Amino acid sequence: MGFREVESRVASRIRGTLSAYNDIATVGTRHRMGNPVLRRRFVLAHWLLLGSLTVCALFAAVDALVTGYHLHAAVEAAAAIGLCIGWIALRRGARIDRIASAMSALVGTVVLTVVLTSPPADSSLVWALLFPAIPLFLHGPRIGLYHVLAFDALLFGGLGLGAALTSDGHGGTAIMNAVSASAVMTILIFFYENGRADTYRLLEDAANSDPLTGLLNRRGFRDRFETELARARRTGAPISLLVLDIDHFKKINDRHGHDVGDAAIRHMAGLLTANTRRHDVVGRLGGEEFALLLPETSAHQAAMVAEKVRQLVADSPLALACGLVPLTVSIGAAQTSREASQFDPLFALADRRLYAAKEAGRNRVVAV
Ligand code: GH3
Ligand code: MG
Ligand code: MG
Repeated sequence: MGFREVESRVASRIRGTLSAYNDIATVGTRHRMGNPVLRRRFVLAHWLLLGSLTVCALFAAVDALVTGYHLHAAVEAAAAIGLCIGWIALRRGARIDRIASAMSALVGTVVLTVVLTSPPADSSLVWALLFPAIPLFLHGPRIGLYHVLAFDALLFGGLGLGAALTSDGHGGTAIMNAVSASAVMTILIFFYENGRADTYRLLEDAANSDPLTGLLNRRGFRDRFETELARARRTGAPISLLVLDIDHFKKINDRHGHDVGDAAIRHMAGLLTANTRRHDVVGRLGGEEFALLLPETSAHQAAMVAEKVRQLVADSPLALACGLVPLTVSIGAAQTSREASQFDPLFALADRRLYAAKEAGRNRVVAV
């Protein structure tokens, strides 16, 4: 077996083990783990909490029983209890931002106490280098950076004061080394997290949008629908959905070619985007089928919007060098109700009405 094969097997074994541990981390929690960003932050918070909790508890025992640093033991034990409460709160659904702030404060206090009150020979300064990982990973690069800067100000201010006032504190060179190493660590994690967040945003945009029109695709539209639905539940406002399908589109492709078909799809996307409210959501569900999500819109209002759109499309043929290509759409409209309160049943209802509009002769709206 060659080196590459061994390396790839080991890497895949490690990935499998980590992913199994991360699955264990999320078992029985009250957080909803559908969102991968939330899941990642939860898993990180979970392991960072357990890791810090273990280290604090271990050092509390060693400081109480072996080294006799009772102040350290007390602070570490208090932090361990706080972290334990934080871990329980995290699993019970507490907001990760709050847990991250509490964790930064607890671990920060332990590190500051230990570093500022230990003799230099204990090398306790190394813990200061690890601190930036907690706020930067848990809060994200921007807010995390403020936490790190506050911690650094206290730490290096305290160390500087110690060096100025006493002769047995950390020396200037040790402080300079710690400041530089801590800054490098902070910068590395900051750029890593920033780059990772940018990459995630790019991937998410690509996964949620339709390359031909730039509109949301079915996946993106569905996600927005869920967000709007959650908002509507809070406010009690109705939501309506229009499903639109260009009539006899195959004939346009057959008569004028696929490029003109594509241009007609883009033309339709432009018409929909330009003639709807800012908070309406336009999506291309596939082929020549579009959807319009209308927040705070009743069934009656949605029928009027649908009629306006139908008329607009009929009055706006695609202009080509060789002439005009007339377009019409059929539209099915539906409003959220007790029976259709989720995307799938609401979409199925609007789609049935779209089919009815096609059956009834096309270029029309069916809203009941
Ligand atoms: P109907 O009035 O019943 O909707 O008839 P139709 O011809 O519009 O419907 P049908 O679903 O039979 O045909 C849709 C056509 O759209 C078939 C497919 O080749 C074409 N199509 C799907 N996606 C694209 C695309 O991205 N570009 C182009 N040019 N054509 C597409
Ligand atoms: Mg069609
Ligand atoms: Mg179709």
